[in-house]
Amino acid sequence: MMRNRLVISKPMSSEDRVSLLSTTDPEEVESVRLSAVEVLLKTCGPEVYYRGLIELSNICSRDCFYCGIRRSNLDLKRYCLNDKDIATAALWCAGQGYGSVVLQSGERCDDAFIGLIVRAIHRIKAETRCGALPDGLGITLCVGEQSRETYQRFFDAGAHRYLLRIETANPDLFARIHPKEQSFETRRDCLRILRDVGFQTGTGIMIGIPGQTIEDLAGDIDFFIDEDVDMIGMGPFIPHASTPLGSLPCPGKDRRMLLSLLMIAVTRLSIPDINIAATTALEALDTAGREQGLNFGANVLMPLLTPVKVRRDYLLYPGKPCLSESSAAFRARLEESVLKMGRKIGYNQWGDSPHVLKRRVADSG
Ligand code: SAH
Repeated sequence: MMRNRLVISKPMSSEDRVSLLSTTDPEEVESVRLSAVEVLLKTCGPEVYYRGLIELSNICSRDCFYCGIRRSNLDLKRYCLNDKDIATAALWCAGQGYGSVVLQSGERCDDAFIGLIVRAIHRIKAETRCGALPDGLGITLCVGEQSRETYQRFFDAGAHRYLLRIETANPDLFARIHPKEQSFETRRDCLRILRDVGFQTGTGIMIGIPGQTIEDLAGDIDFFIDEDVDMIGMGPFIPHASTPLGSLPCPGKDRRMLLSLLMIAVTRLSIPDINIAATTALEALDTAGREQGLNFGANVLMPLLTPVKVRRDYLLYPGKPCLSESSAAFRARLEESVLKMGRKIGYNQWGDSPHVLKRRVADSG
């Protein structure tokens, strides 16, 4: 039997997005999924790119109402990896052919922290240049809001991508999930500065935040389009009992999972040529969550490379997967499922999105 084909106007309107995100009928969901995969394969190809994730410190100066490593959470042993630990994890990443690394951390703006990041970038670049990776590992940073000068130092040191989630593009909802000292405008301006400095920029949101509506989620995709970002990392909100948002009602697990997958698919349909990650939080809700993300149009995976001894302490939310599984075991498991779904792994490549390449051509012409 022929499946319903989706009728989507081009370019898709905000109303179209609301209607697709509201889908609950399994046949319709499948049809959104198939369309997203078709667009992905046509625009970006079957490759899935790996970014090895190193969570280098859970020390954080921020107090976000949803996050397990917020400064007010005292039930946590705080850690910061040293230069050698970071280099060891990055070298393992390069040895596996992963091509890119993500350095993520709680937010700090002090000189010691900035110095650690700059040294890490220099060292990773110096130690991972080889025949397969002539420019060394691609380096993505995810270390929060910093000054223009700091972003420039990171870029000059050799990092080329930066992830800074907007968390929600609705300024009122943003204000409800952050302390007063943080603002939507500052975070958005950071994204603009990052782009101006020369980074490929990524952003993203949490899905199923208490009080968030389908219109908010559709508006988040409008934000991704307006800010012309190159990559997206988004996943379900997962309540953490030691945070203020942990006790507020939010949609059930299944609903958050479905909405997260639909967000991936509708983002892919709206902006075909960007990179979209199937994030760890998907796997916290469902053991096959990341594979599902790929099946709904994502093309990036972030295998965890944080040393096992500190993984438990980087607990943004409960139910984080891979707390004890070795990075090697995870690699084998992931590779098998990626190949099984008929996709390929883009080993030894930075895996920049066609969106970036297109902009480069436009800028130089
Ligand atoms: N300090 C860095 C890294 C933050 S942690 C920064 O500001 O970019 C990375 C992401 O984890 C956050 O951007 C947020 O979207 C997500 N996160 C935090 N708490 C979460 C929760 N309870 N459920 C789901 N995702 C969460």
